[in-house]
Amino acid sequence: MAHINENHLKLPGNYLFAEIAKRVNAYKSEHSDAKVIRLGIGDVTRPLAQVTIDAMHKAVDDMAHVETFKGYPEYEGYDFLIQKIIEVDYLKRGIKIGTDEVFVSDGAKSDTANIQELFGLDNLIAVTDPVYPVYVDSNVMAGRTGEYGTDGKWSKVVYMPCTAENNFVPALPKAKVDMIYLCFPNNPTGMTISKTELKKWVDYATENKSIILFDSAYEAYIHEDGVPHSIYEIEGAKEVAIEFRSFSKTAGFTGTRCAYCVIPKELNAYTATGEAHSLNRLWYRRQATKFNGVSYIVQRGAEAVYSEEGQKQIRETIEYYMTNARIIREGLVKLGLKVFGGVNAPYIWLKTPDGMGSWEFFNKLLNEANIVGTPGVGFGPSGEGYFRLTAFGSRESTEEAVERFGSRLNI
Ligand SMILES: *Cc1c(COP(=O)(O)O)cnc(C)c1O
Repeated sequence: MAHINENHLKLPGNYLFAEIAKRVNAYKSEHSDAKVIRLGIGDVTRPLAQVTIDAMHKAVDDMAHVETFKGYPEYEGYDFLIQKIIEVDYLKRGIKIGTDEVFVSDGAKSDTANIQELFGLDNLIAVTDPVYPVYVDSNVMAGRTGEYGTDGKWSKVVYMPCTAENNFVPALPKAKVDMIYLCFPNNPTGMTISKTELKKWVDYATENKSIILFDSAYEAYIHEDGVPHSIYEIEGAKEVAIEFRSFSKTAGFTGTRCAYCVIPKELNAYTATGEAHSLNRLWYRRQATKFNGVSYIVQRGAEAVYSEEGQKQIRETIEYYMTNARIIREGLVKLGLKVFGGVNAPYIWLKTPDGMGSWEFFNKLLNEANIVGTPGVGFGPSGEGYFRLTAFGSRESTEEAVERFGSRLNI
């Protein structure tokens, strides 16, 4: 008899987005003429940069000739892309990363979900609350999280509340944790961490021999000076942190698929008897077994992003989204709402008015203004009383949404 991995049965299901779709569909079936604006999506909408399109066309032609045809790519990525990553994303910021410390992949979602395979099941994980669900769910499937409680928390996960009270920066856990997931600029709150605060985490991890899993998928959206783009800007981080990056939000690759992670050579984790092992080697071995690389065509498209013209083109798109973010932020502030994020990230995290619950506000916004957003509580218990709007819509629908907040929402 084939038994299943029963950890999979513990997952509460994709409640959040299924529930949103259900409520929107129910509303639309009763109000067929309503023009619903969706500011709930976490997906980009603008087309790829022209440099990427041109590079991919050329790469397709390479595949058509025996002299330039490519078969299986290297597991860790083509050297032409890794060199650009090292030079533009790191060296320009004064960070030295070796070519064998970068692993190109098909997504930061898969990387952040898969990385836990390198760690023992007895590790205690810590996550911010609210959180990008992938970090938690991948650990649930592995059997690392204990039982799911009625409070919406797993019994063996340390939750670190991020609310207006602490400016959405987590406090160091009282318990000794082994794996720490941090994402800054943050999805869903859109908030950042300062170098001083991030240094506290690096020091904590150094002291406790913990590993920080640092997701900087929104690094390109940082507009303010002094906000760290990489955890390796912090001294000592190479000994304690893995960094995840993606071309998804940076260059519109959500449907094209390319990302990478950095695992420094000096980063170790330990056996039960205290023997140090390089996570870089373990990940290389893991990828060689389970992953056959990112397509040549896509890696050429990603490489093009690093040209001068490419950087200019992706910046234009990022500015398009960030102008949307500013329109939402300023519009809602004018209406007296308490608004966070939207300065260094394409997410606006608002405090629901009058102490309304996240879902209560969702219903009100849908019914009165025909706008769809994401209830904060869907990202974790500390998201209750908050609501996420994204800047990934069109300019036109973003402007109309803000207008409706003022003219149709009864607050
Ligand atoms: C969008 C997003 C990513 C990127 O995922 P890909 O698989 O590379 O598309 C990673 N982390 C967070 C928090 C995100 O919101």
